[in-house]
Amino acid sequence: MSKASAEELARTLRVAHLLGLVSLYGHSSVRVGPETILVTPGRALGSPPPNRLRADDVLSVSLDGSVLEGRYPPPRDIAVHLAIYRARREVEAVLHTHQPEMLALGLVERELLPLAHQGADLIQSPLPRFGSGELVTTQAQADALVQTMGAAAACNLPGHGVLVVGTGLAHVLCRAQQLEEQARMTRLAISMGELKTVSRDQAERIAGQRAGMEDFRNYYAAIDPGPGPAPPPNPDPDTVIGVKELVARSCHILRRFGVVRHLEHVSHRLPEPGRFVISPRGDLGQLRAEQVASVDMAGNWVDGPLEPPPFRFLHRDIFLARADVRAIVHTHETYGRLYPAAGLAVLPVHRTGALVVRRRLPVYDIPDLIFDEEPRRAVLALLGDGPIVHERAHGTDYVAATIEKATAAAVHREWIAELYHRAAQLGTPRPLSDAALEQVSREEPAASEWWDYWLGL
Ligand SMILES: [Zn+2]
Ligand SMILES: [Zn+2]
Repeated sequence: MSKASAEELARTLRVAHLLGLVSLYGHSSVRVGPETILVTPGRALGSPPPNRLRADDVLSVSLDGSVLEGRYPPPRDIAVHLAIYRARREVEAVLHTHQPEMLALGLVERELLPLAHQGADLIQSPLPRFGSGELVTTQAQADALVQTMGAAAACNLPGHGVLVVGTGLAHVLCRAQQLEEQARMTRLAISMGELKTVSRDQAERIAGQRAGMEDFRNYYAAIDPGPGPAPPPNPDPDTVIGVKELVARSCHILRRFGVVRHLEHVSHRLPEPGRFVISPRGDLGQLRAEQVASVDMAGNWVDGPLEPPPFRFLHRDIFLARADVRAIVHTHETYGRLYPAAGLAVLPVHRTGALVVRRRLPVYDIPDLIFDEEPRRAVLALLGDGPIVHERAHGTDYVAATIEKATAAAVHREWIAELYHRAAQLGTPRPLSDAALEQVSREEPAASEWWDYWLGL
């Protein structure tokens, strides 16, 4: 395996992560011989996410799909990479992203406006689109995608991501970044009336004057943060301090995504029956396990230095009513509060978060703190045997059998609501196809993978 190419490939995905173009998912490949490519690994047990990739994680794959070298499986949609390299001799590198501005644009009937000089040449014709959120895993689907793409530099995969091709790794990264900037400017310009754009002639002239890719390659090497650290080992869930540590980590993740600050809370059953733990008030971004309080099923404060919040009674009610629930996450989010207030549903417009927003959201329609018995009973009734209940103008409760699931649902619901909102500013967002939703619901929920990825950030 070419060491230099493997290094540059791993770096490409790390930098794409740094630039917000990929998160847990996303992959890239580069041609290294007439019949051979290097590709970053797919999601599998132990495979590193983009921010933690190293050269020796990369796979060497023959264009017929057989893995020549590599310790992890290839991406599930590797058929796309292979079909592109087979059909387009000029393509030397491929990058698959889940970049948010392009995702929003892909969901509506609207073309990118060439508003920035760099990358204006990429969007002089409408970008091709393929699918409605399905993962392209078969050769027939991949060939159809290549056909749709023609000679274009990129293809939007609505409800999923973006594919960018180019003459090298710096080239695809730079193209993905330029598309994201054009998409962002297009969205920001939406209420500004007529704008002057870069014409085809101007775009071609600028592209011709452009320096080679060496500048970009040097720049990407300079900003490469290197492989990120592995997440901390899991605490022992059979001990009180281990469970408190899980609650503290959930709070850190939720704080990172802005859905908690200091008045929200996370709770978790203890191994000992009749007890649970709950986060106290305070900066949840810095909560330490020792600060988490234990409570009994009467709501009494059992241990911990800080008084548990009065909302513990709602959590207690949920734990008593739902033997299947081991963790509860309560958030105060932004986009996720706007939509119920408007009486609107967030549609499942992306694979990530689709299952969280797919079912109708039960809403307790009185802006209130849920202290007293009457609102508690009403909220509990609305929750029923479901995973989520929303309190209008207040927040949302997510319940699950694992804290990873409850935390991922909270982060993903806000993420998909923000994506939906971006797209709704641009037009009428199209949800995933039934086939894509079916595919997503059949997949193993990856909550623990997201959890590990977030903790490693
Ligand atoms: Zn993807
Ligand atoms: Zn609250």
